[in-house]
Amino acid sequence: MSEYDVLGMARQQLRVAARYLDLDDGLVEVLARPKRAVTVNFPVLMDSGEVRVFEGYRVQHNQSRGPTKGGLRFHPDVDVSETTALAMWMTWKCAVVNIPYGGAKGGVKVNTKELSIRELEKLTRRFITEINIVVGERSDIPAPDIGTNAKVMGWIMDTYSMQAGYTVPGVVTGKPLELGGSEGRVEATGRGVIVCTIEACKMMNMPLEGARVVVQGFGNVGSVAARLAEREGAKVIAISDGTGGIYNPNGLPINDLYIKYSGVEGGIQNYQDCTKITNKELLELECDILIPAAIQAQITKENAPNIKAKLIVEGANGPTTLEADQILADKGIIVVPDILANAGGVVVSYFEWVQDLQNFFWEEEQVNDRLARIMRAAYAGVAEMMHLHKTDMRTAAMIIGVKRVSDATLMRGIFP
Ligand code: NAD
Repeated sequence: MSEYDVLGMARQQLRVAARYLDLDDGLVEVLARPKRAVTVNFPVLMDSGEVRVFEGYRVQHNQSRGPTKGGLRFHPDVDVSETTALAMWMTWKCAVVNIPYGGAKGGVKVNTKELSIRELEKLTRRFITEINIVVGERSDIPAPDIGTNAKVMGWIMDTYSMQAGYTVPGVVTGKPLELGGSEGRVEATGRGVIVCTIEACKMMNMPLEGARVVVQGFGNVGSVAARLAEREGAKVIAISDGTGGIYNPNGLPINDLYIKYSGVEGGIQNYQDCTKITNKELLELECDILIPAAIQAQITKENAPNIKAKLIVEGANGPTTLEADQILADKGIIVVPDILANAGGVVVSYFEWVQDLQNFFWEEEQVNDRLARIMRAAYAGVAEMMHLHKTDMRTAAMIIGVKRVSDATLMRGIFP
């Protein structure tokens, strides 16, 4: 298995948890595969008059605990294997925070930077039409991920509703507020990352106030996590995006950078009072807390030995490879795993779906309070499991997630 084979990595993590739980081999085989994987190829008429064919996927991993839930990624590297791994992680994530969903993921192999807004809208509407045989408010509910946002979710809701003949807000989450979105959804993942950071600091007896924080990725998750870390009194000394990073050991003015550049790829490079660094250098900086919030497989066996953070809180999905995990554990670095740390997004997506089904909407304070309570309870459960089994946090979280899903799968039994 290559170090960058994310599906191999997801399956290996499952096998480790299964050994702790003494799961039957047949059950592990069920959990190691997706229930359903749909591949679609569809044409889009480009502005130039040319027809381009795009490939897209929707993978549903497990429905034992409820409908499946997971983001849609528009990125050139998307493939069915990566999408399956991400769907599996969604299953465990929903179970770790104990919300009644299974995991799914989807995406289109596309570089959105090469598309006009009109082309992006056409691609989105055609893609959702192709996968609507498996998507629905009671069966599988997409959400935003890399390369997609609230605007894209709005087009999805509209397209699905046009075909249903009535408005179906619950078919997708992460929508604009005007279309049945939830207060607090945009910030939810970054907010959950910071709730976990606060809890981890307490567990480690490390004050967050004054702690040096490094954040990789200044998109939705990274920019919110960096801003909330600053609000908690931490010193954010480096941030980055796909174009590279900026570093100032005395701290960066995150809120200003957020207002000016969040959502603008490369925008942070316009800031002057800093040293320009690469993403590789950023990960190896002297700091207390590292928050990878960009893409997968960033902390590898090559750079893990050079990582100096005491605590890593995974905002991104799968940022740490299996080999790197072992190296970090040997170095005594605490890693709050993605399936716990970035679960805030799906928790508030769940709130959005509940609000849509009831046509009854909550205030932001209520959303944030409920999110924080769920995240703290999940963190406490994982920390307890970690101490019980004397293991790392990822394994502990996986034990909880896999146990809840395997219990439900066994109770439901095999049809027919
Ligand atoms: P985004 O597209 O808003 O932001 C991604 C950021 O990463 C951008 O700043 C981009 O420039 C940067 N980036 C891209 N390639 C990079 C590279 N090679 N090196 C460094 N930076 C790079 O996406 P997002 O929604 O913030 O998602 C980030 C991560 O968090 C993903 O792994 C995603 O799966 C995960 N996640 C997101 C949510 C959510 O609610 N948005 C929820 C759970 C997990």
